[in-house]
Amino acid sequence: MSEREITKLPPGADLRGWLRRLADSGRLTTPQAGLDLRFEVAATANVLDGTAATFFRAPGGSDTPVVSGLLSQRDWMAESMGVPTAEVARAFGAASEHPIDWVEVPDPACQQVVTRDVDLTTQLPIPTHNEHDSGAYITAGLLIARNPVIGQQNVSIHRLQVTAPDKLGVLLLPRHTLAFLDESAAAGVALEIAIVIGVDPLTLMASQAIVPLGVDELTVSGALRGEPLPVTRCVTNEVRVPADAEIVLEGRIEAAERAPEGPFGEFPQYYGERAERHVVTLDAITTREKPIFHTIVGGGLEHLLLGALPREATFLVELQRRFACVRDVHLSRGGTCRYHLYVQVAGHKPGEVTNVILSALSVHYDVKHVVVVDADVDVHDPMEVEWAVATRFQAKRDLLVVNTAQGSKLDPSTVDGVGSKLGMDATSPLDASEMKFLRIRVPGQEDLTVDGIREAADNTPPVDYF
Ligand code: MN
Repeated sequence: MSEREITKLPPGADLRGWLRRLADSGRLTTPQAGLDLRFEVAATANVLDGTAATFFRAPGGSDTPVVSGLLSQRDWMAESMGVPTAEVARAFGAASEHPIDWVEVPDPACQQVVTRDVDLTTQLPIPTHNEHDSGAYITAGLLIARNPVIGQQNVSIHRLQVTAPDKLGVLLLPRHTLAFLDESAAAGVALEIAIVIGVDPLTLMASQAIVPLGVDELTVSGALRGEPLPVTRCVTNEVRVPADAEIVLEGRIEAAERAPEGPFGEFPQYYGERAERHVVTLDAITTREKPIFHTIVGGGLEHLLLGALPREATFLVELQRRFACVRDVHLSRGGTCRYHLYVQVAGHKPGEVTNVILSALSVHYDVKHVVVVDADVDVHDPMEVEWAVATRFQAKRDLLVVNTAQGSKLDPSTVDGVGSKLGMDATSPLDASEMKFLRIRVPGQEDLTVDGIREAADNTPPVDYF
């Protein structure tokens, strides 16, 4: 690719270019070399979480560096996509709606080094993050599965515990990878997969898009790039992986195989429990010549925001398709960027907020509590949403509870993922008098700024009074 062709792509279309951009702008910290893969890498990444990405040289003495925190601010995600922050959910939603097919390329960077004798315990620097984690985990691996019947691909991130030199324990929640595995089992074959570590930020975000079963999330990455994502065929199976990836683990999942996995520190800030889970068997590792390993620390901002933004985009698309009154949505950090959805509406009809709540609860099982607010409430500010609940919500009138629904298995208050859903209508009653719910406001205040007031200030202390 020529220099000119590269520069037209959004900044997040290339991992190393993105790291250079973070470094050039003081957003990439390189801690002391040789930190321990057990806890030291995660502790350092957590302390810098949200302020800087971290690039760990020689972690645990490994030749391969570890990077973390690539996308730990909403603004950085917008920047990686080349759009204003206010437009980020809308832009991501548009990409999910208009995917662009990938293109196969020869001589991929991700296959510069091919190793068929796999030993994860020595070949990759895989960290152990939290106190009670059962061992080293790959946390930023995009699991790409290929449907054995129709050949379509699915991309998702799963926690992957190193359980043997060539084995990974994997948690498959009831979504697309598991559906593909069921089809494989019915066809009597193993599910062909690849686990891709160290992808560009756009592909990382695209992996979290909530698109229908059968839509390859790599095509959403193409839409975010504005052109087809270059991919290549794995050396031991038919899965197509991003050609510029740092590390690719090629393998398969046998539907009947199980082994103990967990506990592991998850995004809700709790440990996912130990249980018999599916197993990935690896057949090859392919990498760049000097690869970079990416890790996402459970519960950190990178983990939370990666879940939030693509989901917000999907909620916005899905809700606006059904309701003209829906203006904006937000998944709050306090709600683990998954469980609490705030929806802003304007011009809704009697009863419509209830329909919005019921719809929102069904777009993704992770959504547990929905709060609907008016357009005079900043839906991206949890303090504002709480104000609306405090002053416009009456439990007897505005509370909706649905029991025995599918929720998040990682929410410890559920019974194996089954629990209650709750909706709060925190909009002003439609029949209220105009003054009753009018927010107080000082005329002219919106034209003033702190800097403006300071610049125009007299700055003479009123010493004649004290
Ligand atoms: Mn999918």
